[in-house]
Amino acid sequence: MNTAKPSETSLQPREVRCPACAGKSIYSSANPYRPFCSARCKGVDLGAWASEAFRMPEPTDPADVWDDTPKA
Ligand SMILES: [Zn+2]
Repeated sequence: MNTAKPSETSLQPREVRCPACAGKSIYSSANPYRPFCSARCKGVDLGAWASEAFRMPEPTDPADVWDDTPKA
């Protein structure tokens, strides 16, 4: 039984830069943490992203917003 050969692109793992540590990372199915280089980097990046997304920048006081309207 002949198995079809995968294309050259899938044969050669691409080396990318890890977004978390800027280190070398193998972008292939062999690396489940791609594009990150490791589970730690992936976790760190996801954690930072989540905290950034869920964090409120500044507590906005609605009264202050309304009071900002200038009256001539
Ligand atoms: Zn990394």
